[in-house]
Amino acid sequence: MMQIICSPTKYIQGHGEIRKLGDYCLQLGATRAYAIIDPYIFSVYKKEITYSFEMNEMPLVMCEFKGECSRNQVNEIVAALGLKDTEVIIGIGGGKTLDTAKAVSHMSNLPVVIVPTVASTDAPCSALSVLYTDEGDFDCYLPLKRNPDLVIVDVDIIAKAPARLLVAGMGDALSTFYEAKACRESGAITHAGGTSTIAALSLARACLDTLLAEGETALKDVKQGITSPAVEHIIEANIYLSGIGFESGGLAAAHAIHNGLTLHEECRNTLHGEKVAFATIVQLVLEKAPYEEIDQVIGFCKKIGLPVTLNDLGITSKDIDPLMMVAEASCSEDSPIWNMPFEVQAVDVLEAILAADARGQ
Ligand SMILES: [Zn+2]
Repeated sequence: MMQIICSPTKYIQGHGEIRKLGDYCLQLGATRAYAIIDPYIFSVYKKEITYSFEMNEMPLVMCEFKGECSRNQVNEIVAALGLKDTEVIIGIGGGKTLDTAKAVSHMSNLPVVIVPTVASTDAPCSALSVLYTDEGDFDCYLPLKRNPDLVIVDVDIIAKAPARLLVAGMGDALSTFYEAKACRESGAITHAGGTSTIAALSLARACLDTLLAEGETALKDVKQGITSPAVEHIIEANIYLSGIGFESGGLAAAHAIHNGLTLHEECRNTLHGEKVAFATIVQLVLEKAPYEEIDQVIGFCKKIGLPVTLNDLGITSKDIDPLMMVAEASCSEDSPIWNMPFEVQAVDVLEAILAADARGQ
């Protein structure tokens, strides 16, 4: 089996980058851009977004992202593009806005510039879009022809987003090394289409080390409105290190258990990364990791406000049936749980959830 690592062609992170988007499009060789923008970001940063396009006298069509990242929405935008001689797609906003831009680029064979305005997940760098129905239910994963051509991260914008989103991003990034390590041991095929590389595992390790060393400081700093080096490092860990780490290092039990948790009624108000954080502790219990390692992860989560118990996730009922449903769903046919280096059964997952909850308490 071959080893594969993939990544965006270029990743740029800095202060005030939103004012240079037009320059970056020109560097890609594109002279006409079509931007899909989150409505809140549009209302606050419209002047900054248009600045470099006006300076370069470059036509920019701006489309406020409304509704869902659905097939219908994507097809509508692709149809509209045909009339505008677009040469590059830009997505500016959160997960669904970015996934829409990526899907539009995929369908229209145009390059895409991705501008995340929150660091709440590791999705921006990947060659994957999640599609929903127009009603907002999960539809399917759309594997894309290639990773984004450019990912532009404006630290100043991300630092102003609610701190809970940065913390959730740390939760999503927390699982990356443990899942990549499990995939390395099992020889699993990753999203990149091959087995893992030394490079992907090293980035996943760097991701975890950065979180543990600087996560708490970064949270304190963003709460005070300071974009310190710690904040910059955590943004890089959440978006880039975790992004390459998960896509080319592989997913395993933590994301499988997260997927199961999405079906639990009482979990509905928790964010992706919050569920992943708890599920990371469950994976460590499942693989019988040393207590010091488990306690280090629990300690980190507690310090920055990530859930370490079922209660923290919003699950207050003592009913075992919904948890068994979570465990069974995490062991479904296509689940990344089969990337673990040992056999796992639903009852093992249930026991690990309960043991993780007990340790968290
Ligand atoms: Zn994730």
